[in-house]
Amino acid sequence: MSTFSASTYPPFKPCPCGSGRSYSACCAPRHDGSRPAETAEALMRSRYSAYVLNIEPYIRASWHPDTCPEDLLLNDGTKWLSLKITGTEAGGPDDERGTVSFDAMYHLHGRKRRLRERSEFTRLNGAWVYVDGVIS
Ligand SMILES: [Zn+2]
Repeated sequence: MSTFSASTYPPFKPCPCGSGRSYSACCAPRHDGSRPAETAEALMRSRYSAYVLNIEPYIRASWHPDTCPEDLLLNDGTKWLSLKITGTEAGGPDDERGTVSFDAMYHLHGRKRRLRERSEFTRLNGAWVYVDGVIS
C-alpha cells in the first residue's frame, strides 16, 4: 500500500478508533502504510479513524474499487464521536473474507445519531479492503 499524507493527529494521543491504544500503536501505521491491517477488524478501525481525521486517500484506498463511490461525502458536516465493534466473523490473518459489525455514534445537523452496520471485507492483492455494508 502506498504512503498517505501523514495525519497531524498527535501520535501519543488515544487512537480515534477507541482501542485504548495510542494512535501511533494503533491506526497510524495503517494510515501511513508502514504496517497494513492484518485483520478485517483492524482495517475497519483504521477506516473509522480515517473518517475522524479526514484522510480521504486512505478511505478510498481501503475501499474495493468496484464499490467505492465517486463522492465520499466527507464534507457533509458529520462529526464522528465513537466506535464500538460488536462482532466479527472470519477476517483473520489467514482469511480471504470477513465481516465486522459495529455501532458508531456521530453528530449531524445538531443531533446525535447512531450508525449500526455489518460490513463486508475481502482481500485485494493481499490487503484487506471494505466491500459494502448492511445498515441495521
Ligand atoms: Zn485505532
